[in-house]
Amino acid sequence: MSALADLYPDVRSIYIDFLEVEKFDPDLANYTLINPTLSIKSAEVAVKRMVSHALTNPFLHFRIKGLPRDSRIEIRKLRAKHLGTFVSIEGLVRKATEVRPRVTIAEFECVRCLHRITVEQEGMLFHEPLECSKDDGGCGRGTGSTKFKLLTDPSKFVDTQKIEIQEPPEGLRGGAQPERLVGYIDDDLSGRISPGDRIMLNGILRSQQKGSQVKSTLFEISLDTNSIEYEEHEYEEVLITPEDELKIHEFAASPDAFDRIIASISPTIYGYEQEKEAMALQLFGGVSKLMDDGTRIRGDIHIALIGDPGTAKSQILRYMAQLAPRGIYTSGKSSSAAGLTAAAVKDEFGEGRWTLEAGALVLADKGLCCIDELDKMNDQDRSAIHESLEQGTISVAKAGITATLQSRCAVLGAANPKYGRFDASRNIAEQIDLPPALLSRFDAIFTMTDRPNAEQDRKVAKHILKAHRRGEVKLHESPEKITAVDAMEILRDSKDLMPAMERDFFRKYVAYSKRITPIMSDEAVRTLEGYYVSIRKLGEGDEASVPITARQLEALIRMSEASARARLSSLVSGEDAGRSIKIVEYYLGKVASEGGKRDIDLIATGTSRSQRDQMYELRNLVQQLSDERRGVSAEELIQKAGAKNIPEDRVRALLKRLSDAGEVYSPQAGYFKLASGERIG
Ligand code: ADP
Ligand code: MG
Repeated sequence: MSALADLYPDVRSIYIDFLEVEKFDPDLANYTLINPTLSIKSAEVAVKRMVSHALTNPFLHFRIKGLPRDSRIEIRKLRAKHLGTFVSIEGLVRKATEVRPRVTIAEFECVRCLHRITVEQEGMLFHEPLECSKDDGGCGRGTGSTKFKLLTDPSKFVDTQKIEIQEPPEGLRGGAQPERLVGYIDDDLSGRISPGDRIMLNGILRSQQKGSQVKSTLFEISLDTNSIEYEEHEYEEVLITPEDELKIHEFAASPDAFDRIIASISPTIYGYEQEKEAMALQLFGGVSKLMDDGTRIRGDIHIALIGDPGTAKSQILRYMAQLAPRGIYTSGKSSSAAGLTAAAVKDEFGEGRWTLEAGALVLADKGLCCIDELDKMNDQDRSAIHESLEQGTISVAKAGITATLQSRCAVLGAANPKYGRFDASRNIAEQIDLPPALLSRFDAIFTMTDRPNAEQDRKVAKHILKAHRRGEVKLHESPEKITAVDAMEILRDSKDLMPAMERDFFRKYVAYSKRITPIMSDEAVRTLEGYYVSIRKLGEGDEASVPITARQLEALIRMSEASARARLSSLVSGEDAGRSIKIVEYYLGKVASEGGKRDIDLIATGTSRSQRDQMYELRNLVQQLSDERRGVSAEELIQKAGAKNIPEDRVRALLKRLSDAGEVYSPQAGYFKLASGERIG
């Protein structure tokens, strides 16, 4: 207390652990929970008497931390009985306004007699004096015959901030929408919170009447924050007991551990073995590193699923969002202002202030962000998402707000092909409708095509029917009594649809694995280096394409590290490296090869080597054939290009690309002319 007296008013908060109060006087502790306003106010008054400067600065706060478990209430469970009581609320900060002053003690002057009147301001509504009271020496005039002028200098102000928190995703049952709560923060606590933070707010639940013109009997709730506690540990929400630890190590030691992990990923979805393996690795994640020069290298593994409609993309994403600790499922075309990234907005919420709002990637910080319909995201997200994928941050600079929010999450994205369905006769990479700069930041890109194939179709159909049948039987309380079908047989037969690991255990296993930071063995380094160099070699020679870039090498490293983590091993083995090579080979073979040849530029730049050659060719044709006035007709170009083995639809596609890039323009419909003498890149 004496320390406070010395530091006051720079330090104006006294922190008390609730346990201390309870030890000192259980009745007082109990009273504080039920009637915190009075209890805390009395404590503040008592302390102010002891601190002499109190007269010059009215702010001094008694802040209580560590409320008992009973006072922890989920946002959706807040009820009328909690109004006015002390509660502890856990959540994820979604919005935070700028810090702005609020008047707490307003000084007025009566314009007729110059008498000073002080009005203490409580809550959000501004209170003015009703009369210049004679009792304390005024002239006695009411608001009808005099006016009151606010004197800002002698008035007292306090910093305030308004925030909105939402329920943490892991507490939500099966895809329920998170509920939200508004919180007010005062004085020295304001300005410390950013959107995306996981916090516990301790405070008093208040109510405000709805409606400004016509008063309603309905009330809104909000929290008057008394103290803030931060969630310190990344995976704190997953509690691991010593018995769990034993089970976790036992599991990791079993020879089929990895197979069982894969068998726990969307078991009701048939096939996609490689995809599931990659998604399992994504959950464990690579090692995030801080280099000596201050650069951070991400450990998060990003995966994109691009496929025909009805290939279970959405289903898989939803499953993964529930399985992963801190998983979030969202859609690229989400309607909130913050979208996937973040936004600064000036709306009702801020009451005149700017509000910083966190999008899905920020809310999923240190978790998994599953983004469906990635191709439909808005332009603002499209430009801000790169930073998040690579650096794990999102910067907002708008209207005087400059903020950097954390978004260190792995991304599992899903998108449809450009024209809704893959066209088997065309190059797959051409049909992916994502900017190459974005696509090349994914560590693995899987394409899922859905073409009729009798053998495969039968297997998928069998699997889906089995899943539905099992679901039907499971709705019955006593399946052994069913006579029409052999229900027990159906249950036994579909055992493989059960996840090989229970979800709770799986989450614990993943959370536990994050404690391990594996190091690459000599063998792993040799294996990865050998693979990289040998694939690059395929591209040597002057006419060659680039088969693979350093980005894929980093992807290989991350996946190898994740594979070691999945075994709880602190050493990345050659086998781990082999597993990641298998995955990269699998997807590159599908998306980054043309005519059997590897060409990473299909992903990295969106144009293959052969396409680039054709583009130069076509550009030359436009230049040669153009006449001064009209340019050259599409028909003529198609005919001449045909002679050079460039098919018609390719010519049309390339013409569109050249126009989009501003290389050629149309002086009139159907004619093309070179825009400038510049080269194309
Ligand atoms: P998408 O998002 O790719 O368009 P959905 O996730 O909406 O597809 O999938 C459509 C439905 O088809 C889902 O109910 C899903 O379970 C089912 N389905 C598709 N492919 C498979 C599969 N291989 N195994 C089991 N079910 C599947
Ligand atoms: Mg879908």
